[in-house]
Amino acid sequence: MNLKAARARNYSMVMKHILFFAFALISVSMFSTTACQQKTAVAEVTPSPTPKSETKAAANPSDDVFDGNKVVKTEAEWKAQLTADEFHILREEGTEPAGSGEYAKTHDEGTYYCRACHLKLFDSKTKFESGTGWPSFYQPINAKNVTEIKDTSYGMERIEVECARCGSHLGHVFDDGPKPTGLRYCMNSASLKFEKK
Ligand SMILES: [Zn+2]
Repeated sequence: MNLKAARARNYSMVMKHILFFAFALISVSMFSTTACQQKTAVAEVTPSPTPKSETKAAANPSDDVFDGNKVVKTEAEWKAQLTADEFHILREEGTEPAGSGEYAKTHDEGTYYCRACHLKLFDSKTKFESGTGWPSFYQPINAKNVTEIKDTSYGMERIEVECARCGSHLGHVFDDGPKPTGLRYCMNSASLKFEKK
């Protein structure tokens, strides 16, 4: 083999290598481009989660003080919105067993809302340990937010407390509470929704 032929052979081999690597490089870059596009396409169709602030009902300023606009729903609508226990207590004037409710021993700072319509009902600052097994408060957050009705069921004379906006049953109020009001708003945990400060 002469020198010229050997050089030509070497040149041909080098070119083959270059072509092979160029082809491999193009294939890889094509593949990664495709992968990226697919990834982008998937990301575009994935629904972005709704920010919490938009869904938080607490942002509604009309929840602070009852403005006279009542919430009226059919029995079927309440049943769809509430659990069976909540429906029984809120809409059929039921009472949860003493000590069974989730807020009987809650002492965190925050606000208690109506579980049915989210109207503000009680401030944690007015909550006290009554020893009854039901969350107890000495006053509502605003007198306008609750309706007090004489209740003579079960052979007792009691004052029933309802949410002023949706008419849901909350509990009863008694006159054996602590200072400064001397009142004891004896509530069902199932009628309330606590939100921490
Ligand atoms: Zn309500």
